[in-house]
Amino acid sequence: MSNINTYLQYGISTDIAKDLISKNLSISSIRSTSLKNMINTYHFDEVTAKFVKNAVLRKEIDENIIYQLLKNSLFKCCCCEGTKSPSYVIHHIIEHHINQDNSYDNLAVLCPACHDIAHSNGLSRKLTPEQIKRKKGEWEKEVEKNRVSRASLNLEIHDIDFINAKRIDILGFDLFNQINDINKRNELIDNNIIDKNGNYIHINKKITNNHIISGNTINHYKIIFKHIISYFLSSIENIDNLVNKEVYNKIGSMCYYVGGLYGKALEDKCTLLHFSRKKYTFNWIVDNNYIISNTSAIRMKQRSIYIVYGIIRSVEYNKEKKQNIVDLRPYFIGMPTKTINRTPKIRYTHDFIEDDHEDL
Ligand SMILES: [Zn+2]
Ligand SMILES: [Zn+2]
Repeated sequence: MSNINTYLQYGISTDIAKDLISKNLSISSIRSTSLKNMINTYHFDEVTAKFVKNAVLRKEIDENIIYQLLKNSLFKCCCCEGTKSPSYVIHHIIEHHINQDNSYDNLAVLCPACHDIAHSNGLSRKLTPEQIKRKKGEWEKEVEKNRVSRASLNLEIHDIDFINAKRIDILGFDLFNQINDINKRNELIDNNIIDKNGNYIHINKKITNNHIISGNTINHYKIIFKHIISYFLSSIENIDNLVNKEVYNKIGSMCYYVGGLYGKALEDKCTLLHFSRKKYTFNWIVDNNYIISNTSAIRMKQRSIYIVYGIIRSVEYNKEKKQNIVDLRPYFIGMPTKTINRTPKIRYTHDFIEDDHEDL
């Protein structure tokens, strides 16, 4: 039995593969069937028959590589982003006959239309190997970014490190006590965010790393915060998209950031999380009383990958540092289930005071 992926491993497109499967032609039967038979008995046109006969003689591409390529491109052509056709083929950027390079870097997902362009020679040729390489990189980055953003808006976190319960309670009270939409109200009641009389439920328990916090309390705030995010959904900002003058218009906005951060212990039981990029420095001052566990407390002083949700409190230009300093009030911090692979890598600042802020 053959599935589509088996054909993809030989550089056969999904649309032709479906045709082959419907005609019961496995890779080995294509090999043993004559070209004439492919045309006369199986009704392929000459070009396709020749192409397929040739393809099955190649060394197959590793299944895991195919899986990675398809996952990272969202099963879409990297050149037209799937707009020309939902079918796709695994294309060799440096053509297969030249060096038989089946590595990830030499392969790209294309649709049959873009594939034809890539293989056509002469003046009409519009897709060079360099262009395909660049488009592949850009599309994969876009797909990754969307994946991270979706996960962030769903609060997909595998370890929660910090919950500022007090701030969440204040925000929750403001947001949910005013909701009159009966469907929304019932949902909030079902999730124990408001009681049957419509009053916001405070737990009134300070989350602190010196006490044992019940999983129920954490879960309670996780649910509330999920509702808070869905309330802000149309206006929530990804800090990655905010590294420009726009930050000044975003004071008061709920934001999230996914990526590496530096931590530094401050006096009066606070931790500073920060990172710099271009002319911007982002600061979150974390009240240690709301750090969930001792392991979080230790991790926060080091460089880690975090997801941080917070509201922009102020933006100021610092003349000495030649930096725009963005102060954010953190609400919720955890380890994200999906992160972004940044290439070129962001250079992290080691010391907040003397850093050179040359980033990205
Ligand atoms: Zn295409
Ligand atoms: Zn190709």
